[in-house]
Amino acid sequence: MSLFRKEAPAAHYPVEKPDAEWRRELPPEAYRVLRQHGTERAGTSPLNKEKRPGTFLCAGCGQPVFDAATKFESGTGWPSFWQPREGAVGTTTDRSFFMVRTEVHCANCGGHLGHVFPDGPPPTGERYCMNGVAMTFRPEED
Ligand SMILES: [Zn+2]
Repeated sequence: MSLFRKEAPAAHYPVEKPDAEWRRELPPEAYRVLRQHGTERAGTSPLNKEKRPGTFLCAGCGQPVFDAATKFESGTGWPSFWQPREGAVGTTTDRSFFMVRTEVHCANCGGHLGHVFPDGPPPTGERYCMNGVAMTFRPEED
């Protein structure tokens, strides 16, 4: 059972599917993170080492959520960014695990991507700490 609690009532998203459909379509670990607010084990995502120019997409619906140009090495073991693509993500307050954190989800399908913290690098000072399994990478075409 997820410990995640939302303060606001469930929002509606452009892409909505019954839970059984998400469960069928997504790999188990992606389903656990995106639909059940899970967190992947630090250092496990191949996207940690991804340094090519390109775009990170939501693994649930394919919406572009982060540009590679905003990725930085945070040393946390999770892919980290200082800024999402405009309008690509939404946030809610997450009070699970006795902490107050800001949860980040895809604005298109509501899939849980990770959390944002106020200790990132310039120019925004924000650190979007993302689950690699919740995203896919599309290299820039050359
Ligand atoms: Zn999505």
